[in-house]
Amino acid sequence: PYDVLVIGGGPAGAAAAIYAARKGIRTGLVAERFGGQTLDTMAIENFVSVPHTEGPRFAADLERHVKDYDVELITSQRAAELVTEPDAAGHLGVRLDSGPTLRGRTVVLATGARWRTMDVPGEDDYRNKGVTFCPHCDGPLFKGKPVAVIGGGNSGVEAAIDLAGLASHVTLIEYADRLGADEVLQRKVRSLANVDVVLSARTTEVLGDGSKVTGLTYESRTDRSVQNLDVSGIFVQIGLLPNTEWLKESVAVTRHGEVEIDAAGATNVPGVFAAGDCTTTPYKQIVVATGAGSTAALSAFDHLIRS
Ligand code: FAD
Repeated sequence: PYDVLVIGGGPAGAAAAIYAARKGIRTGLVAERFGGQTLDTMAIENFVSVPHTEGPRFAADLERHVKDYDVELITSQRAAELVTEPDAAGHLGVRLDSGPTLRGRTVVLATGARWRTMDVPGEDDYRNKGVTFCPHCDGPLFKGKPVAVIGGGNSGVEAAIDLAGLASHVTLIEYADRLGADEVLQRKVRSLANVDVVLSARTTEVLGDGSKVTGLTYESRTDRSVQNLDVSGIFVQIGLLPNTEWLKESVAVTRHGEVEIDAAGATNVPGVFAAGDCTTTPYKQIVVATGAGSTAALSAFDHLIRS
């Protein structure tokens, strides 16, 4: 069995594996797609101490760093079940989709998350060419330009407030007939002179010139009229879905599916830790995920030396 079995090969899983391996304990890492969301990223300019890099390059650096250590890398494999009932030797299990069950004295869950998409024409074609999911990451690219934010929940309204300080103009588009965000955020966004809020509107298409976004169309859900909006950026904020479906009832998750962790990265199951975008951590960022991954691994090590 592994001393630490890490599930997920994004920034959180990679950091956990490096920290565990540096303790000289047997470390395994299972990942469906090593690099995780960073593989889908263009420029990364907020990983502290690296002023600029690109997603695929970051993912390759991450893999090289993990391979500097004695980590058993098992890629292109999906975890299908977490077995929290210890076996005769007291080990936890992770059953892979392909059949075998790997054993670990501790497990670190780091399966990340995925953004919910609008599923409209043009969205995929202009992903990273104006269509984006992360205001903290890509906001500065749209300095002085008009943008739209899709989604009027807390993330969408926070994004609109954030972007109002950078973009020339922000249009916030919400499908329902009212915003779902907290009252204090709604008051704030409505007080901003360069933000328009459009309610009861369904985004129907992302428009572009072949290389970048030039606008979008939306349909009014009240009178069916169709409007064109000229924007350079579209921030889609309609939900971040944690990749935790496979965990079923094995560990405690919130109603949004985020694994509940404490400040040390511990879940409600002894020996099972978690880190990164699949957890209740409030900010979904690379630098946050790597910190959380190292925290989870150090906590797993602490658990090992006490048991
Ligand atoms: P992920 O990166 O999601 O990695 C999850 C890992 O788990 C992957 O290896 C995946 O294959 C694996 N996995 C999932 N399910 C299973 C399973 N069942 N079995 C086995 N393996 C599984 N953040 C920034 O800080 N700066 C940026 O500029 C930035 N830009 C972004 C741009 C885009 C387009 C996107 C989508 C995100 C961006 N982010 C950015 C956010 C950042 O990428 C995430 O916060 C970070 O990758 C989270 O790391 P993670 O390790 O928790 O999860």
